[in-house]
Amino acid sequence: MYMDTKPEDLVPELKQHRRIVLGHEPTPIEKLTRLGQNLGIELWIKRDDCNGLAFGGNKVRQLEYYLGPGVDANADTVLITGALQSNFVRLTAAAAAKLGWQAHVQLEERVPSDDQLYRKSGNIFLNNLLGAEISYFPEGEDEAGADKALDKRAKELEGEGRRPYVIHLGLGSLPYGGLGYIRAAAETYAQVMASGKKPDYVVIPSGSGLTHAGFLVGARAIGWDVPIIGICVRRDQKSQTDRIRKRSSELAQMISRPNLIIDQDIIISDKTLAPGYGKMNSQVKEAIEKTAQQEAILLDPVYTARTMAGLIDQVRTGEIPRGAKVLFIHTGGNPALFAYQNAIEGFS
Ligand SMILES: *Cc1c(COP(=O)(O)O)cnc(C)c1O
Repeated sequence: MYMDTKPEDLVPELKQHRRIVLGHEPTPIEKLTRLGQNLGIELWIKRDDCNGLAFGGNKVRQLEYYLGPGVDANADTVLITGALQSNFVRLTAAAAAKLGWQAHVQLEERVPSDDQLYRKSGNIFLNNLLGAEISYFPEGEDEAGADKALDKRAKELEGEGRRPYVIHLGLGSLPYGGLGYIRAAAETYAQVMASGKKPDYVVIPSGSGLTHAGFLVGARAIGWDVPIIGICVRRDQKSQTDRIRKRSSELAQMISRPNLIIDQDIIISDKTLAPGYGKMNSQVKEAIEKTAQQEAILLDPVYTARTMAGLIDQVRTGEIPRGAKVLFIHTGGNPALFAYQNAIEGFS
């Protein structure tokens, strides 16, 4: 049972949506023996950082659904907006290169920094290497404005004879990318059922919320009631709870399962968020170093280390009890490590 189960066997409604294959799936699940022992839990990790496309990460799964409709529409250009060190932007540039499209990426000044590594290395270096065309947007917290600027650029490109496809990430557009994590939850369920190692908790980053909401909807759609703890990487607990409520409701409808998620399903901690998006704190630094030195697993300061810091905090406070089986979802982001080298080494 479950050895050969495909995500679409568990959630057949996913077949209503066009998907292109960009990543290596299923991604492996491994045990983190030493770190788990030190924390007093049984710790497992799902390696979505190892899914193949240009350093990988959760956006590979999201792009499989975002770009499906673009391929059907015969697009030849893709546009996306994100933070300077956005992994989504880098992976969109990568997917475009693979499809033979042109990528136009707009980078938002979300983390004020003059650090030349932050402004030039990591994902920005890779965007250039992958052949993307780059523009800058001065405001980091104006989601609607950034989308508007992108639409304007798409119109110009259309005037130049291109067939642009815009990936809209704002709350006004449907969260296609979340379908990738509905699929990931089903993939994970088949793996843990086949191995007999069902986790007591899943810990996952909660940013735009498509990864968190998608995994939650996927799990509940197949009747898997594991608590899924979202760790805030950008917004506080209250606004993130509203966001996950909205995104999971939309995603549940997109697989024809309205009213699937109840408020008790939405578990969110922002205790490792301060001082804010993309900024270091001592818990994040501890998580990066511990996980590297005890497991040779590399975490980035923006997302995955903050999420591991949130996991460690939940164990220390007893919200995750000693001895519990915990599955950490590694969502990628490794190139940002290089951009944050000064910020990490210089933090004390
Ligand atoms: C974007 C990103 C996240 C957050 O995912 P959302 O779907 O936006 O919540 C987590 N980890 C990494 C490495 C990312 O790039």
